[in-house]
Amino acid sequence: MRIVLVGPPGAGKGTQATRLAETLQIPHISTGDLFRANISQQTELGKLAKSYMDAGNLVPDEVTIAMAKDRMEQPDAEGGFLLDGFPRNVSQAEALDELLETEDMKLDAVLDLEAPEDEVVKRIAGRRVCRNDSAHVFHVTYTPPKKEGVCDVCGGELYQRDDDSEETVRKRLEVYHTQTEPIIDYYKSQGLVATIAATGPVDEVTRRALEALKRDQ
Ligand code: ADP
Ligand code: AMP
Repeated sequence: MRIVLVGPPGAGKGTQATRLAETLQIPHISTGDLFRANISQQTELGKLAKSYMDAGNLVPDEVTIAMAKDRMEQPDAEGGFLLDGFPRNVSQAEALDELLETEDMKLDAVLDLEAPEDEVVKRIAGRRVCRNDSAHVFHVTYTPPKKEGVCDVCGGELYQRDDDSEETVRKRLEVYHTQTEPIIDYYKSQGLVATIAATGPVDEVTRRALEALKRDQ
């Protein structure tokens, strides 16, 4: 299956993507995680991306699309993938459509995770991610690690993302509403969108997501 996850920052896309990818046996491709890996490896791409990310803005399309394309072309993504955080504007959605078309492929579903603003703000404020891999995500009160400050998955150090500050979160929410939300209508016109409530326990949201994907098949 080829799936896109969309939703405001903090809706739980990364959390759900990890679980769905495991159940569906497809790779979880998060452009945010790819940028953070580039930042920790101090690559040129990482240096460029960091300035945009820290300000809560989108990284320019040209580099983002090239990075996502490169990842989607890896052998493990041949049979499908779960995109988390990409596309994030209509131009990226169009670029993805073109890419899929040239490979004679198409998306199966776009899962829209809905959560109220006050909830996503609380989730982001308490989010802690692992230094080794930002796909290992916890929350200080909602989904705490077994040992404070230590990743349950790999033992890495947990930290608060630089862009999870209150000020940057406001900017990221604004960017979500103005630039990312329009892709929901773009995909609705292709009949691909399944909207699910992203509130309640993590397991419950996963159940809703799998249910919605089954309906779409
Ligand atoms: P996104 O990838 O959409 O930005 P994350 O998956 O990183 O969101 O989740 C944001 C924060 O909310 C994390 O700290 C995560 O542990 C927590 N979280 C995710 N899903 C839930 C949920 N259903 N209930 C409570 N907290 C959640
Ligand atoms: P995320 O990990 O999805 O919350 O993304 C963190 C930050 O990475 C975003 O605020 C953007 O600055 C950048 N980013 C991630 N994905 C994209 C994308 N598809 N297009 C542009 N910027 C992105």
